[in-house]
Formats: sequence, C-alpha cells, structure tokens
Amino acid sequence: MVIKGTTQLLGVIGYPVTHSFSPLMHNAAIAHLNQQAPSSADFVYLPFPIHPDGLKDAIAGFKAIGLRGFNITIPHKQAIMPLLDSVSEAAQAIGAVNTVWRDSGDDDSSGECQWCGTNTDVTGFLAPLKALGQDWSEAAVIILGNGGAARAVVAACHELGCAQIWVVGRSRQKLSQFSQSWAHLPEIATKLVMLPRDQLLVQGPKAALLVNATPIGMHPQVEASPLGEDEIKVIMEGGAIAYDLIYTPRPTRFLQQAEALGLMPIDGLEMLVQQGAAALEIWLGQPAPVSVMRQALLSHLSKLSKSSG
Ligand code: NAP
Repeated sequence: MVIKGTTQLLGVIGYPVTHSFSPLMHNAAIAHLNQQAPSSADFVYLPFPIHPDGLKDAIAGFKAIGLRGFNITIPHKQAIMPLLDSVSEAAQAIGAVNTVWRDSGDDDSSGECQWCGTNTDVTGFLAPLKALGQDWSEAAVIILGNGGAARAVVAACHELGCAQIWVVGRSRQKLSQFSQSWAHLPEIATKLVMLPRDQLLVQGPKAALLVNATPIGMHPQVEASPLGEDEIKVIMEGGAIAYDLIYTPRPTRFLQQAEALGLMPIDGLEMLVQQGAAALEIWLGQPAPVSVMRQALLSHLSKLSKSSG
C-alpha cells in the first residue's frame, strides 16, 4: 500500500485497541482493491487508542483532519452516540454504534461535515444464517448473555422473523434492565422472554438456534463452555444451529459439544468479516472483497494459534 498526499484516513477507536483485527482485515481489502485498479481505494485504516475522557476531543479532531470514517469498539459504542449528527434506526434499536462515516453535506450550505452512525453487527451476524435460506417464523431462539453483542443478536433475530427470542443471563437485575430497554419497540419486546440461567432447563423452549453471546470459551479459557453437553441436548431441536460469536479458538468448546450432538456449528469469524465488509462498503461506496478480508483473518488467526501452542 502506498501512502500519498491524497490518501484518506479510516480507522478504529477503542481503549485499548491493540487486540483489534480490523486494521489487518481492512488494509488487506484496501491493498487488494488497489491491485485490481490502481488508486481505486486511496485509503489507509489505522488503530486509534482513545481514552474515554478524550472521546469528544478525538471526534472533533477527526472532523478537523477530514477522517472519512471509523469503527468503534469497547468502550465507546454507546458513548459515541450523542456525539453524532445522525444515528440509523438499527443502531438506535441496539443502543450501540460500530460504524461512523462522514457525510460531506451536499445539501448543507455551511459545508460542515455530518457524522452518521450505524451498526453493522446485525448484517454480520445474519450473513451465515441468511445463506441457509431457512424459514424462522415458527422458531424459538435462545441467546446466552445480555451484553452489547446480545443486543445486536436480538435485533437480528427479529429481522430474521423468529417467533420467540429467549435471553438467558446470570443476573436477574441485568435481565430486567435489558428487557426494559426494548419497551419502546413493541414489535421486538413482545417476542422477548428473559430467563435467569438457573431456570434454563426448567422453563427454556426447544430452540432452533442457540447463540453464545458471552465470552465464555474465548482464548485463553479454551476449555470453558457456557453450557454442558447434556444441557444443550435438552434445549435444542434436532438439527438445530449452535452459533458462537467467539472466533478464537476455532472451534470453541461450545461448538465442539454442539457438533458431537449433530447440531450445525457456526462460529463468529464470518460475523466479524461481514460486519467489516458492510462498513467498508459504506466508506468506499464499492463492494468489499469479502474473501480477501476472510483470508487475511484466517491466516492471522492460524499464525496466532501456532505461536500460542
Ligand atoms: P459484554 O457486553 O461484556 O457482555 C458479555 C455478556 O456475557 C454479559 O451478559 C455477561 O453477563 C455475560 N458473561 C460474561 N462472563 C460470564 C460468565 N462467566 N458467566 C455467565 N455470563 C457471563 O460483551 P459483548 O460485547 O456482548 O461480547 C460478548 C462476546 O461476543 C465476546 O466473546 C465477543 O468477543 C463476542 N463478539 C463477537 C463479535 C463478532 O464479530 N464475531 C462481535 C461482537 C462480540 P453479566 O452482564 O452478568 O456480566
């Protein structure tokens, strides 16, 4: 990649941001596009570690230097929202933004840029499920966890047309807050059932889709799983899908258990790739090279797993 006087900036903000795979994935895509057609993507994607106290100043600085767009990771996904000029309906429903772009403001006589935000996690999560072409209108989904990713999964399962969305958490208080946060969207709220973890086997449905939206089983805790194999067996329909948002290790213990029970495993890698591809398409206004982005991540993850064990 050649950085020139014309090169525009993209990036990811977080604190810390050192763990992010986004620079690797996006710069591989940008390099590929430029190889196909020189200067078709005159961009570079950088990590920006922004302390929460400096978020407002950083966004003003991004405006001053004409940054084209950026991704947002923990802890800024909610805090960024009031600093933006517009937030998509999807991101408002989830209560978090992961992608921001600069609208140059063609109809704005002041010439000031407007920051627009959306959330591409829903698109990312749905990509491998939509590829199956399944009918979800009778389906019950169980989501393990009630954090930020679980919110995107709830919105996605609603978009998929699922009949019931069960959310399982270890804290009754957090479950209740989670439930209340959807009250302004009755079409989603009426499908939601909150279930304390200790009631899962007693009250849980037979699910067509079980999603792990907790970090349980993520590297380095590779032997951990959010559920026992016997528990998964009780709550899943035959031939159902087990979806783990985690992408290191591949497969997780949870997905190994699911596969042993004859369930279809899906891990979080495709979600990561597809949410990134959706963001890149917004910034560049052209299709993202999804297979290049996937390959860049796969080779990086394979190097990491060789070096760690
Ligand atoms: P988060 O906001 O911190 O939420 C984590 C949730 O997991 C919370 O509900 C938390 O419960 C629960 N939890 C954590 N440790 C637990 C434990 N030991 N036992 C029971 N519950 C536990 O995190 P997030 O942003 O939602 O991310 C969740 C996972 O999804 C992470 O592994 C993340 O890497 C992954 N993810 C993947 C993608 C992708 O593109 N593939 C995108 C986003 C996230 P409490 O609320 O009770 O603490």
